[in-house]
Amino acid sequence: MTHLTRTLFVTFIFAAACERAKSFDLVVVNGRVIDPASGLDAVRNVGVSGGRVTAITREPLSGTRVIDAKGLVVAPGFIDLHQHGQQEESYALMVRDGVTSALELEVGTGDVADWYAQRARGQIVNYGVSVGHIRARMKVLKDPGTGLLPAGVGGSGVASEAQIAEMESILRKGLAEGAVAVGFGSAYTPGATMAELGRMFRVAAEGNASSHIHMRNGVAGLDSTIAAAAAAHAKLHIVHVNSSGDTSLVAFLAHIQAARDRGQDVTTEAYPYGAGMTEIQSALFDDWKTWPDAKFALHQLVSTGERLNRKTFEEARKKGGTVIIHGRSEEQTRIAIVSPLSMIASDGFIENGRGHPRTSGTYSKVLGKYVREEHALSLMDAIRKMTLMPAQRLEARVPAMAAKGRLRVGADADLTIFDPATVIDRSTYENATIPAAGIPIMIIAHTSTVAASHWKRIGTR
Ligand SMILES: [Zn+2]
Repeated sequence: MTHLTRTLFVTFIFAAACERAKSFDLVVVNGRVIDPASGLDAVRNVGVSGGRVTAITREPLSGTRVIDAKGLVVAPGFIDLHQHGQQEESYALMVRDGVTSALELEVGTGDVADWYAQRARGQIVNYGVSVGHIRARMKVLKDPGTGLLPAGVGGSGVASEAQIAEMESILRKGLAEGAVAVGFGSAYTPGATMAELGRMFRVAAEGNASSHIHMRNGVAGLDSTIAAAAAAHAKLHIVHVNSSGDTSLVAFLAHIQAARDRGQDVTTEAYPYGAGMTEIQSALFDDWKTWPDAKFALHQLVSTGERLNRKTFEEARKKGGTVIIHGRSEEQTRIAIVSPLSMIASDGFIENGRGHPRTSGTYSKVLGKYVREEHALSLMDAIRKMTLMPAQRLEARVPAMAAKGRLRVGADADLTIFDPATVIDRSTYENATIPAAGIPIMIIAHTSTVAASHWKRIGTR
């Protein structure tokens, strides 16, 4: 018998044995399986092999590992399109909140190859990044900022034609290196004209990439951003509609819907908190000297948890750091979360134990407060906003996303298993690192390889 024949024989026996025993690497039994793509919402057994879902059935299954999910929901893993906390400390909290894929698509990076190289030794969640106009602008205009955002000329400076061309080439290079999208923050770059932004939208469109923007100037700014994206044939994603829409939220959502009705590719997202957070040296606060005294008290310094006044705000602005901004109503938050237009995305960030509770509580808060307690959203709709919608947002550029955000045979086995009766956020503005409750089991498929060069993921826990 030749070596080749023997090998084939062994393979055949192995395959036959598997067929008889229907054995899987892992089976999740008795769970309430919810898949927003197919509409499935029923008790099923799920078989996983080779990092993929290979069976969903009423029949009993056996596997090397068995998880009994009786009374629990089995959903596709949550996909967060807006997560600045891209280090292990944040990933560890996100995973407890049900997130299996965390992407930094708003600010992004100016050096995509280096960003991926820094994480290449393995992380517990799938991760990805955009190439960011903000970061490219900071580099080209030589901004003095040391954080994520411009602290001077990178935000307020007006770029020359040569500098705009240099930003375009940084974006093109990032896309060639596997950026998932292109990030923008026109609110943080008031010096960037709509013509400059239009040039960057064109680069994103060339790469078939979505443009994720933290935009400026409320409804008027939204209209000009939508028009610039339409002229560039760019796919547009407006980040955190709850804060960008603010007191004009209803009109804001209506204008996004109107653009969609005209056939334009415009999407949006929201996080379930009444307070935002950003860097205190950013352009958002350039007018701070004109504020009435009462406005300072809405600002809470992240490093200490203290509420600020005129004097302490001035001191903190000189020093740098992040600040939480209170002031939106619960009604605004609910409208943004419930809108059929909005995906759920955290805009989270944690560093050295300090940050915003949305980093560790966004998904559990939507499921506990808006689905269970308030019945403001169905469980199916909430899961759709956390899984299928964000996967679909990226699919044109990242084909691998077609295997995520769904729970069907052939999908990646990224699964979030939670208790719908107890799931809830526990983090606070003073302590953002308390893990969510009621999400006892996470499964993240790391064993399959993904062909798309635009999507980088790791093979070990
Ligand atoms: Zn953000």
